Amino acid sequence: MTDTSAKAPVPRASVLKIAPYIPGKSQASGVDPKSGKVFKLSSNENPLGASSQAVAALQASSHLEDYPDGSSTRLRNAIANAHGLNPDRIVCGSGSDEILSLLSYAFLDDGDEAIYTEHGFLVYKIAILAAGAEPVVVPERDYTAHVDDILAAVTGRTKMVFLANPNNPTGTYIPFNEVKRLHAGLRPDILLVLDGAYAEYVRRNDYESGIELVANSANVVMTRTFSKIYGLANLRLGWCFGPEGVIDAINRIRGPFNVNGAALAAGEAALADSEHIAKSVDHNELWLKQMGDTCKALGLDVTPSVGNFLLIHFPSDNQHPAEQADAFLQSRGVVVRRVAAYGLPNALRITIGTEEANLAVLTALKEFLSR
Ligand SMILES: *Cc1c(COP(=O)(O)O)cnc(C)c1O
Repeated sequence: MTDTSAKAPVPRASVLKIAPYIPGKSQASGVDPKSGKVFKLSSNENPLGASSQAVAALQASSHLEDYPDGSSTRLRNAIANAHGLNPDRIVCGSGSDEILSLLSYAFLDDGDEAIYTEHGFLVYKIAILAAGAEPVVVPERDYTAHVDDILAAVTGRTKMVFLANPNNPTGTYIPFNEVKRLHAGLRPDILLVLDGAYAEYVRRNDYESGIELVANSANVVMTRTFSKIYGLANLRLGWCFGPEGVIDAINRIRGPFNVNGAALAAGEAALADSEHIAKSVDHNELWLKQMGDTCKALGLDVTPSVGNFLLIHFPSDNQHPAEQADAFLQSRGVVVRRVAAYGLPNALRITIGTEEANLAVLTALKEFLSR
C-alpha cells in the first residue's frame, strides 16, 4: 500500500527494523593516537599484515581509468586451483558481507524466514531484514550452534539457514558430521549458507569448511573472505562456492564490476603466498593457546576458540564487568570488541595480535582484575 500522504520517501518497514552494524573501534578513547601506541584487536585482522607479495601486486596495479574484469576471471581461476574447485561455481564479491547480502536478496521474499543462531554473526540479521524477510534466532548451547535446535526452528516459511563455522564472536565450531546432519535435515528448497571466514585458522581433524557438501548438493553455499588470514580487509574481497542455480542468481543481481582491480590483483598474490599463510596460522596457534591459558589463570572464563580471537567472560559478581574492562584496556592503548550487541554484555572479544599487543592485553587484564 502506498502512503501518498508521506512528506518524504519512506523506506520499507523491514529496513527501519535494522540496527546499523557498529564496527570494532580503531581508536582508544583517552589515548592520543599520535603519541600513545594503540593496539587494534577489535576486528579479527591479521596481526602479521598482508603478504608482502600482495602489497607489491597492489602497488603494481595501474590503469585506474579502466573498469576491472567484471567476472574476476583470473582470481576465480586462482581460487579454483588452490582449492580444487570448478571456477564456474565461484563468485567474487566486495567482501563476503556483500555476498551474504546478495544471497539474501536473491533467495528471500517478504514473509520468508531465515535462521541464524543466538550469538551468530550480526551481518546475517541485517541481510535478512534488508531483504524483507524475518530473522529467526535459535538459542545456542555452550556458545555453540546446535543442529537439533536449528532443525526444530524450521517452519514451512524457512528459506535460508546461516551458519558461521567457526562462528564470530564465539570462536566455536561444529564438526563436519554435524554440518552434514544439519544439511540432511533441511528441505531441499532451504539454502544452507556456510560462512567459512575463519576456516584457514582451524586445526581440527573433525572440521571441514564444507567444500565437499557444496560440491554434492544443490542447496549449500560456502562463503570465504580475504579479510582475515589473508590480511586484505581494507580492499574488501570475498568469494563464494555454490551450486549452479545459486551462482547464476548472484551473477544476475550483483553489480557488474563489484570487485575492484586492486583487490583482484592483491588477492591473487595473497593466495599464492602459502608461506605467509602458514606463518599466520603458526603465530595464531601459539598465541591463541597462550592467551587462553593466561586468561583462565587470571580467573576469566574463556570460550574455546578455533579462530583468531578469544571470547572472554568476566565474573558475574559485578566487580569487573566487561564494560569497565573495555574502558581500562583502552586507557592502556588496547582496543578490543564489546559484544553486547551479540547478546554477550559481560564478555569481550579479543583478536590475537602481535606478541607485543598480546602481552599488553595480558598485562592490562591482570592489572584490571587485581584492582
Ligand atoms: C569477518 C567476517 C566475515 C568477513 O567479512 P568481509 O566482508 O569479507 O570482510 C564474514 N563472516 C564472519 C563470521 C566474519 O567474522
